[in-house]
Amino acid sequence: MLPSFFDLTLADLTDVLVARGLNKFSAGQIYDWVYKKHVRDPAEWTNVSKETRAWLAESYDFRLPKIVWQGLSVDGTRKFLVGFTDGNTVETVAIPARDRLTLCVSSQVGCAIGCTFCYTATQGLKRHLKPGEVVGQFLAAQEWLTKNVGEDARLTNIVYMGQGEPLHNYENIKKATQIYLEPKGMGLGQRRITLSTSGLVPAIEKLIEFPPVNIAISLHAAHNDVRTELMPINKVYDLERLFKAIKTIPLKAHRRITYEYLLIDGLNDGIADVEGLASLLPKGESKVNLIPFNEFPGSKYKRPSEKTVFWFMQQMESRGITCTVRTTKGTDILAACGQLKSAYEDGRLNLWDDRSQTRPTNASTSPQVPAPQ
Ligand code: SF4
Repeated sequence: MLPSFFDLTLADLTDVLVARGLNKFSAGQIYDWVYKKHVRDPAEWTNVSKETRAWLAESYDFRLPKIVWQGLSVDGTRKFLVGFTDGNTVETVAIPARDRLTLCVSSQVGCAIGCTFCYTATQGLKRHLKPGEVVGQFLAAQEWLTKNVGEDARLTNIVYMGQGEPLHNYENIKKATQIYLEPKGMGLGQRRITLSTSGLVPAIEKLIEFPPVNIAISLHAAHNDVRTELMPINKVYDLERLFKAIKTIPLKAHRRITYEYLLIDGLNDGIADVEGLASLLPKGESKVNLIPFNEFPGSKYKRPSEKTVFWFMQQMESRGITCTVRTTKGTDILAACGQLKSAYEDGRLNLWDDRSQTRPTNASTSPQVPAPQ
């Protein structure tokens, strides 16, 4: 099985060309063909030498992941089921807003973090996604949208809020982000990408080495006992450790930290939670996204009333914390926050039967949650 071309950052591509004795300046031209002109067949790259084209064509796989299913919500949110060469699938969701079309991408097949409110958690972690599989979700979804909706359906923003904990897959997500940002390729702006984390402290402390994108921290509770109930990661990295790590994030470069707070009826939506949250967050520079809980099959939590959500928001704002209520999108197709789960998990799809490629063995090495430090 050939390695995917989409795993290569521009620097990686330059290195492999140099190692092969080929012209390193072709790397930028190749990125331009693949990511700007969307021409993935090396035979068509007219300004790249024949030798380089031939070598890349026989050394790398230029295929994108496959869209195996898609569904459209009544509110315009579109969920894609994306399939990889080993038969695993993840979900990726395109969410329209007035001036943008955001793709919520997955970073792992399943997730090891085990948040008790999350549908993805019920499938456990199968494996990390490679950079090309993360970038491929965007490219495959964009290709589908262009073909089936039209040229105007352009994805503009990315949030790493699909399946998985992105910082548990730090190196691959860092590479994928570099590929998204590369001006000679996709050229997405730093402000258009948001990295979300459940609070993996050792990786948060390494964000200084990460491209300067927006950061979202999933808080969901202001007290350790409630947060541990919702997010077992809090047993290892509690609120004190988390906020100590948050202080190490280079704010100037990252510009903005958003705190995600899932509102659950009767669990974290009372006055003690308002007061706890207000005392945790630095005034003036914190923004809280309130997310009324989205119920899913078998979920044990309930969504609070609209009155409670509004009251919570007002209480926070009266304490100097900027607050927004995230409009819930895509609930009718289970595409909303915390509702994503890979389909076909008991019987992998054989996606590659129609191609003359040898089906690969599963590259999974059963990654472990990083040990506490
Ligand atoms: S909410 Fe995110 S981090 Fe928590 S289990 Fe679900 S996918 Fe993993």
